Amino acid sequence: MNKEMLKEVLSLPSISGNESIVRNYIASYAIKNGIKVMVDDKGNIYLTKGSDKMTEGEYYPCVVAHMDTVHRSHNTLIEQDLRLDIVESINETDKHYNQTTLTAKLPGTNTQTGIGGDDKCGVFVCLEMFEEFDILKGAFFVEEEIGMLGSKEADEDFFKNVGYAIQFDAPSANWITETCSGVKLFDEDFKGLIRETLSDGGYSKFSYDPFTDVNQLAQKFDFCCLNLGCGYYRQHTNGEYVIVDEVESAVKVGISLINKLGIADYIHNKSVKIQNSSLYGDFEGSFNFNDSEDEELMDMSENITDSVIEMVADGGSREQIKEFIYEYLMDNEF
Ligand SMILES: [Zn+2]
Repeated sequence: MNKEMLKEVLSLPSISGNESIVRNYIASYAIKNGIKVMVDDKGNIYLTKGSDKMTEGEYYPCVVAHMDTVHRSHNTLIEQDLRLDIVESINETDKHYNQTTLTAKLPGTNTQTGIGGDDKCGVFVCLEMFEEFDILKGAFFVEEEIGMLGSKEADEDFFKNVGYAIQFDAPSANWITETCSGVKLFDEDFKGLIRETLSDGGYSKFSYDPFTDVNQLAQKFDFCCLNLGCGYYRQHTNGEYVIVDEVESAVKVGISLINKLGIADYIHNKSVKIQNSSLYGDFEGSFNFNDSEDEELMDMSENITDSVIEMVADGGSREQIKEFIYEYLMDNEF
């Protein structure tokens, strides 16, 4: 894995509505490597590699990330065409002891700011996939953080011959989104197909998460989607950091998955999509939860527990924890 390139991608400032620096970086990467580029009216950018190698009935794997971050203070950097200072250090906390860690500072200052690993780590992992594969598509969306506005307008033509999509947009290197804001991303048979490859790569935690772009893709299109952790932590805060080895784990598991799944179509059977059920409402229906809904609730409470433990360990205040739980439940439409 190219660590210098990771640092370069992380240094690019980008916020929702002003992703141009990241988009230009992706475009010039593509042009340099002979990869076809397309930008839609919304500003999303799409890469296609290997169209000359495709024959009738074959489908592209597609990797996905979002280009925006939430860090409003980076606006000034964008205006002045500056880059974040990326700081590399050896982690001394118990959680990541001895691991190479990246954080960011506002250029020329000692002020730490969010590094925007959410989701520039994802952007980097996707580009690394293009280093590896001769046949691949990539979709990079704008404005994910303000309600998936980019992926809501995902280009239908581009996705016509996509067989499955893998997004990299979650913390850590052991995180698999199975249900995303009430939308099931893949079917049981697809899960059976990928489970071993994922766990060999260190990914075993299937979870129920708030939104990211594959939520939109899974609703708009009929292929299986997936979202994986790509090594960032404490996203959306100035203390956000990236564990380099975990970004590499995401690259590796991405490569293994695409090698395993190949250039085939994995249809997402919408009839088994789980509807989000309200704990209180739905008087027309019954109150009986089926097994998968039970499982979903178990996943949610496990996620909340994990996150609260993590926040306490990181010194989070009572108010921050309350706010997190409130937002989590709101995101999941409770
Ligand atoms: Zn994200």
